[in-house]
Amino acid sequence: MDMNTIEAVVRTADPAEWRAGDAWLAGGTVLFSYGSTAFGPEPLRRLLDLGSAGWPAITVTDAGIELAATCTVAELYALPDTLAASPPAARDWPGLDLIRPCCDSFVASFKVWNMSTVGGNLCTSLPAGPMISLCAGLDGTATVLSPDGSSRELPVADFITGDGQNALAPGELLRGVSLPASALSSRVAFRRLSLSNLGRSGVLLIGTLDGGGQLTLTVTAATKRPVQLRFGSVPDAEDLAAALDGAIPDSLYHDDIHGLPAWRRDMTYRLAEEIRDDLDARAGAVPARVSGDFWPPQSPRREPTPQEGA
Ligand SMILES: Cc1cc2nc3c(=O)[nH]c(=O)nc-3n(C[C@H](O)[C@H](O)[C@H](O)COP(=O)(O)OP(=O)(O)OC[C@H]3O[C@@H](n4cnc5c(N)ncnc54)[C@H](O)[C@@H]3O)c2cc1C
Repeated sequence: MDMNTIEAVVRTADPAEWRAGDAWLAGGTVLFSYGSTAFGPEPLRRLLDLGSAGWPAITVTDAGIELAATCTVAELYALPDTLAASPPAARDWPGLDLIRPCCDSFVASFKVWNMSTVGGNLCTSLPAGPMISLCAGLDGTATVLSPDGSSRELPVADFITGDGQNALAPGELLRGVSLPASALSSRVAFRRLSLSNLGRSGVLLIGTLDGGGQLTLTVTAATKRPVQLRFGSVPDAEDLAAALDGAIPDSLYHDDIHGLPAWRRDMTYRLAEEIRDDLDARAGAVPARVSGDFWPPQSPRREPTPQEGA
């Protein structure tokens, strides 16, 4: 895609250097696909390249997991194996089992898989953003740096405000996302549907059940922005359906080639009930690993074709 309006690429992660006509450059899979005239009324003039930020991709402590905005999908996918190889027992979090289903929901080529970043996915703010699903489903908190030197934090579920819309003001930079140990140590359930094999997510729901019996349901992909429902205990089926009725008006269901709103709505209720039933059955049991199947089945990670290159 033509980027022939770009006059400079500046290696910086300092929001104070941002000026009108700039865009933060992470993996570039969106910027280099859409071109420099697709991001607003004025063409882009400069790319501020985050490649030199030097932020550690992933930091794990007893408090949880810090994901830098520049963490790639491939780096995140490797995390469960890395932790399993050097396991403080306290960090054998059931929530880790959401990482790979969410990464696999990113139906992407080898290059996109290895270049695209957690931050780029959140900032692109597509309803089917699988890093949005993961980070919202695990009660992630986004840290945002502003050009005036201040910073602020907000829940990932609130960071995304609509289809392709988010809470960033001009020049603001997403620094990273914190996933708290409280959510990571919950029992988790994952459900996803796509209209076609290897298609983009049409509906993606995550449920967590914490040690105190609180159930949190996060609806993504079906809706234009994440919707979270919290229950003090596992509700019955009628209460769950009523809560969905109240939380998601028909106009909030997303409408694009990956699914009609009516289908997304019906599947949201169906998958939500599956998650409710699943977590209800496991309430009080020994914390188990993630439950749920992909449909359609996902293909294993593959090597690049010669055309895609290394
Ligand atoms: C073949 C293909 C398949 C794809 N499939 C999917 C899919 O299934 N689901 C999906 O959601 N997307 C998909 N995408 C879109 C895209 O690849 C992803 O959203 C990806 O995660 C974007 O990350 P990136 O690092 O490449 O972002 P970039 O292209 O570098 O940036 C994207 C946007 O975010 C801004 N940005 C990036 N990082 C930051 C930051 N830290 N702070 C502030 N702003 C920032 C950039 O300025 C730009 O506006 C696909 C793209 C391709 C080409």
